[in-house]
Amino acid sequence: MAAVILTPPVHHWIQRQEERIRREGRPLTRAEFASARNIGLKDSGRVRILVVAHIPLPAGWLLKGIARFSRVALADPVALTAGHGIFLCSAVAADPVVVRHELVHVHQYERLGRRAFLQQYIRDCLVDGYRDSALEKEARRLSIRAGRD
Ligand SMILES: [Zn+2]
Repeated sequence: MAAVILTPPVHHWIQRQEERIRREGRPLTRAEFASARNIGLKDSGRVRILVVAHIPLPAGWLLKGIARFSRVALADPVALTAGHGIFLCSAVAADPVVVRHELVHVHQYERLGRRAFLQQYIRDCLVDGYRDSALEKEARRLSIRAGRD
């Protein structure tokens, strides 16, 4: 229920973040393209990465809503993926495992569609918690595996 309520405002917010990353971000490097190919991204050419000092978070009322319903630790994330846009905190900007992890999330957006991805992501985080959510587990597993080949 909470996921159904929270998805539309999060979706709207995510779209605005993706537009900003598309305007200000950089395309993937050659090595990142190779990771994206291993992960199975359909449209790596659309991906943009924007390095920022702090990851933007949803407006106060939305954040309070999410915090009320979830056990998600929203304080100080190091990265955030919005469709084909990736925010990276400057502290992890050179970490290929973090980039691969976020590329897996891009692939999940491609696979599920933006709205369905967000709804599943929010629901799983509310029910299972951030670390145990299926989409996060997949991102952790594939970001490590993609680094080995
Ligand atoms: Zn993740």
